[in-house]
Formats: sequence, C-alpha cells, structure tokens
Amino acid sequence: MANVDPFENASQQVHDACDILGIKDKGMRDYLTMPNRLLRVKLPVKMDNGKIRVFTGFRSQHNNDRGPYKGGIRYFDPEGGVKYMEREVMALSSWMTWKCAVVDVPLGGGKGGVFVNPKKEKLSEGELERITRRFAYMLSEVIGPGKDIPAPDVYTTGKEMTQIMDTFSKLNENKYSPGVITGKPISMGGSLARNVATGLGAAYCVREAAKSIKLKLKGAKVVLQGFGNASTFAGEYLEKMGAKVIGASDSKGSIIVQNGFKVNKLIEYKKNRGSVVGFPGSKKVSTEQLLTTKCDILIPGALENQIDKKIAAKLQCKIIAEAANGPTLPEADPIIYQKKIIVVPDILANSGGVCISYLEWVQNNMGYYWSFEEVANKMEANITRGFRDTHALSKKHKIDMRRAAMVLAVGRVVEAFNQKGIWP
Ligand code: GLU
Repeated sequence: MANVDPFENASQQVHDACDILGIKDKGMRDYLTMPNRLLRVKLPVKMDNGKIRVFTGFRSQHNNDRGPYKGGIRYFDPEGGVKYMEREVMALSSWMTWKCAVVDVPLGGGKGGVFVNPKKEKLSEGELERITRRFAYMLSEVIGPGKDIPAPDVYTTGKEMTQIMDTFSKLNENKYSPGVITGKPISMGGSLARNVATGLGAAYCVREAAKSIKLKLKGAKVVLQGFGNASTFAGEYLEKMGAKVIGASDSKGSIIVQNGFKVNKLIEYKKNRGSVVGFPGSKKVSTEQLLTTKCDILIPGALENQIDKKIAAKLQCKIIAEAANGPTLPEADPIIYQKKIIVVPDILANSGGVCISYLEWVQNNMGYYWSFEEVANKMEANITRGFRDTHALSKKHKIDMRRAAMVLAVGRVVEAFNQKGIWP
C-alpha cells in the first residue's frame, strides 16, 4: 500500500471527471486537484514518563468554494510513515470536497491527522489529551465554525472532539463554539443520529440501488465486510428493510451463515468473545471467499484496497455499497462495470456521516436541536437525491457510478468557482 500514492489516485479521478466535463485548461485542473492549503505542525508533548516527545500533525484544506472546509481528524501511523500520511491526508481532503458536493451539502473538503497510533502505543488518557489539545492549539488559527470544521475519523472519537472544541473556545475569548467541530457527544452539542449516520446512509443508498435494478430487498442476501460502526448499522437498517445478512468479518477472520443471522446477535457475540469468528452455526472462510460469495449486496465497510482485479473477476453480487473509504482498487472498476454490478462509490455510500455532521453544525449555529427522525429524514433526502443525480449521469454518459459521482461533484465545484472567479 505504501508504494501507491493516494493523492495521485485522487487527482487522477479529478482528471477523469474533467475529461468528461470537457475541462481542458491545465490551470483549472491544477486548481481542482491541489489543496488550497496544507499545514504541517510540530506537537511537543510531555509524556507520562516526564520525557518530551514531538509528534507531527497535518491539516489539508482542499477546497472551500461551496462552504467551509469539512472533514475528519485521524490518529494513525500508515506504513509509509509521515511522508505517506501527508499524501494520504491531501487525498482524503480532496475526497471530502467531492463527498460534500455529491450530496449537495454546502461545505468544502478538509482532512487532518496526527502521526500516532493510540491503540498500538497504549497511550494514557492524559497523553492523548495533551496531544489533542496541542494539536487544537496549533490548528486554532485555521479552523472555526465558518472556516474549517473537523470531525472524527480513524481512532478519534467524541472525546477528542470535545477537547478540541473546549481548547478552541478557550482560545477565543471563552466563547462557546460548538460549531467548530462535529461528531461531538450529545451533551456537548452533538446531533442525534450522528452515531448511526454512515451505516444508515449506506442502507439508503442500497435501497435506491436495488430500486434501480428492480431487486427486491425482502430476502436479499447481504455480506458485510468489517463489523464496526458503519457495517453493523448498515446491516441492521437493511434488516429492517427486509434483507438478510449472511456474512461478516473482523480483523480476526470472516464468517458465513448460509441461512442468515440477526446482526444484533452477532454484535452480542462479538462483545463477549472479542470476534465474530466462532459464531454458532457459522463457517469460517477466507477474506476472498467472503467477498466473492454469492449474495445480492456486498458492503465493504472496513479497510482500503480490498477489491483488486482478481477478486473483482470472481464477485457474485449485484450491488456493492462502499461504506469504507477506498475499498476498491482502480484496476477493479472496469471489470465490475463489465459484470453489470452496480457500485455505490464511497463518496456517496459513506456520505451519511458528513451529511449529519452538516446537520449537527446547522443545529449548533442556530442553537436549536432536532429529533432523531427530523435529522434522519433530512439526511435521507440529501442521499437519495445524490444517488438519483449520480445514477442519471451514469446512464447519460454510459460510465460507472464512481465516475458519475465525480462528474457530478466536480461540476458543482466548478460552478461555484465560476460564480466567484479569482480574487485577489
Ligand atoms: N470522517 C468522516 C468521513 O470521512 C466524517 C467527516 C465529517 O463528518 O466531517 O466522511
């Protein structure tokens, strides 16, 4: 993975969309691919053993033509090191721009992170808080409710969001500023439905995809790759729509239960035993067997780079909804398209998270809070429209849904840019 440049991949997707949109101007293409600003910061932190350790943090602000920068903060240590993380954060910030545009929320794209793996390193709560608050301090001049609004991502939670909000507020004349960040706990100004948002959004996408190919969800077989927040909620909502989950996986292995199982039973089992493996009535299978098993709906909800061209050739599903970011390698896309499998690309399938982040920010700005149903319904409207617009473009240009989503998103950003022009 470390020898793939994620930012090159992200930029290539922009160029592909420009080809279809007829944007030839190199300057315009540079404008659309490169981040507006890339900040790299040094974070000196006093560790519990009394020694100072210096961490590196990033914030990439890709585009704000349609609204303030928006996107998560991850604490991670990718194989390729700090250099790779810089490219990864740039790529992810670009994808956030397109993700917000495809579902038409008035926000731009950003992403950030600190090169640290809190799980692997077993950092204490105090150490983690000092890293987070130092990072918030270093970001304080470039973030803000109208400027750049971070959110949780890999290995960050509502706790870190609260600490960032508190640090930012204290640095800004102690002004209560919940709108500087989303993904906060409910008691800190968070939104109802934010915790289920990614899974619920993916389920709405599957529902729309099923309609488009006249597949009945009642009795449809679902395979979940991964069994974290996004996959489990996607599975539970699809169950409510009548589908039957038959496969799941986690870092310890993959399982299939031919007759299906109830997602909440597997959640319970994993809670007690630490893994989905060994679930009564299940058969342990390889990752490849899980992904290529005969089913109607495949939800890659865990890791990047899972479906390569070899796996693509063996897929036996009708719909893929990418709840994770980047689970499919570019080499697999043409094969999947040829097999007439409909792919709901990550920027659409997992946009439920940022949709509800947007609604959290709106609630923070007005100081008035909606019910779960109100929030979920508003998100449903954005996602359904995003799906239909993307699907229409894929038919019009005879391209796969990933390209269509990019064409839609890039077109929307270009439109906003053209309204403003360049100043100064
Ligand atoms: N980190 C999430 C994503 O990649 C959420 C971003 C947000 O809510 O701003 O979509």
